[in-house]
Amino acid sequence: MSGSLLKVAGVTRRFGGLTALDGLDLDVGAGEILGLIGPNGSGKTTFFNVITGVFPPNAGSIHFGGHDITGFAPPAIYRAGIARTFQRSRLCLELSVLDNILIGNQLRLTRGFIFNLLRRRRFADQYRAFRAEAVDLLATFDPPLARRIEEPVAGMPMILRRRIEICRALISRPRLLLLDEPSAGMTHDETRHLMDDILEVRRRLGGELAIIIIEHEMGVIERITDRCAVLNFGQKICEGSYRAVAADPLVQQAYLGV
Ligand code: ADP
Repeated sequence: MSGSLLKVAGVTRRFGGLTALDGLDLDVGAGEILGLIGPNGSGKTTFFNVITGVFPPNAGSIHFGGHDITGFAPPAIYRAGIARTFQRSRLCLELSVLDNILIGNQLRLTRGFIFNLLRRRRFADQYRAFRAEAVDLLATFDPPLARRIEEPVAGMPMILRRRIEICRALISRPRLLLLDEPSAGMTHDETRHLMDDILEVRRRLGGELAIIIIEHEMGVIERITDRCAVLNFGQKICEGSYRAVAADPLVQQAYLGV
């Protein structure tokens, strides 16, 4: 479709004899929230890995914002405007909330992140500007957490870690955010809060941010997605509103084996 932000066409990814993604077509529009669902092993995380350049596809193409990004390396894809979070928290626990978020900004720094971290005085202006941006972002998400910005992440509960990870992704000002099972390790209520916060942050950022979310909690999918795509054995077996896909016999078969 014209105007789609992400356009994935015929993408295949094999690992040895296993076809993890099999000729997948998927479009996401600007500002759209797409739920990516499917049984374990159906290729959801591989899809994120292929889009972000971790594994190049064996066949097919990926266009983002009208540009062909097929086969680009992860830093180039990140610079193009695609950021992600991971199912398992990947924060540096001994670093502060602020430094963890600034890691996400490294590609916008004039020199490497560590270089800048070590020479904060020399790069004081740039550091101050980024710090202010990180505080703003965090305050939009979670004002009490913004006041704890200098504290180490170690010891903080999972919901705060998830928020920090999402801020780290958002500090790069992406146009597409990939969330890999954000409910992992959180209670039902925490997940619901986090989803509401994501929607609010997105609204405040102008509503243009597109999101693809992998999630097993169907309540989350129903609540926040505009559209869903269902994978099974690396193929898209169904696409549409949550209600439509939940009622689809192929989807029920894939999940329940009936
Ligand atoms: P999902 O996220 O839907 O659970 P994955 O994308 O993680 O599924 O996995 C899809 C299939 O690809 C699985 O059979 C998995 O074992 C395989 N796979 C994923 N990543 C790799 C890899 N790096 N090497 C080999 N096989 C992989």
